[in-house]
Amino acid sequence: MIVGEPNTVSSSPLKNTSPPELLCNLSPIRPQISPSTVTESNTSSVKYWNKRLGLHESDRTTVRCGEWLTDKHINAAQSLLREQFPLQQGLQDTLLVEQCRTYHSGTNNFVQILYINGNHWVCTSNRFSPAGAVDVFDCSTCSRNSRTLKRQLALILQCPAASFCVRHIDVQRQNGSSECGLFAIAFAYTLCLGLDPSTIRYDQAQMRTHYEACINDEEFEMFPTLPYHHRQAARQNRVKSEKQLRIFCKCRLPWDKDDTTKGAMIQCSRCKEWYHEHCCNINSTDYTIKKYICDKC
Ligand SMILES: [Zn+2]
Ligand SMILES: [Zn+2]
Repeated sequence: MIVGEPNTVSSSPLKNTSPPELLCNLSPIRPQISPSTVTESNTSSVKYWNKRLGLHESDRTTVRCGEWLTDKHINAAQSLLREQFPLQQGLQDTLLVEQCRTYHSGTNNFVQILYINGNHWVCTSNRFSPAGAVDVFDCSTCSRNSRTLKRQLALILQCPAASFCVRHIDVQRQNGSSECGLFAIAFAYTLCLGLDPSTIRYDQAQMRTHYEACINDEEFEMFPTLPYHHRQAARQNRVKSEKQLRIFCKCRLPWDKDDTTKGAMIQCSRCKEWYHEHCCNINSTDYTIKKYICDKC
């Protein structure tokens, strides 16, 4: 049995694979805003900012004080966007992305905000990407080579091909380090409108008051913009970088040497595809198994 590490470096584009239509499994799950975690005993002492969206006064203080937006802020916004754009795929609760495994061959036009690296919000979409590619809209450079981003994209896309292309789009950078949630929401709303965030310059100074007003009105409107900077308008390269991400196994995830939950990787002796031992119920230390042949073969 061949146990080891798959070669994740691939010539781009992969040989013998035409660009796959990326499948998106985000559509069937339309979670409601998760119920408030406040227990009944102290409900009376906790004031809501917006009860329907599950936001408390403390959440408004977070917005006003220039702090990082939490998943409550992001998911309240995505919930409103789902109401405003009922045909838009994606916009799923950010906490549910890891649990979303159902294969779904639906349409491939999604917008989704993702939480990555334990400290950062980015927006992802395939609205303006060619078949076999997905775009990342990030107001910093944190998403380059982020394993949590790659993993979540692979989970969302469940791409049947050997790889898909992750493209980092040249969008506005944040000033400071705590505005990524607001930019992710601004990018998501812009994409829902059918516009390309790389062509827009947002007025960062007004983002927080705009977010607060949209939550108050329970309806999003376009974030205030600034006139185009001359240099930006002349910008040619919309795609700053692109990389083929190889994916493996039945679970269609990238290889991640830090993820020990799925065991070692074993290679099918016939088709040479790599599989996680746990995904295939195989014990790689069982030396009575001479060769592993996958289900497909
Ligand atoms: Zn697997
Ligand atoms: Zn095989």
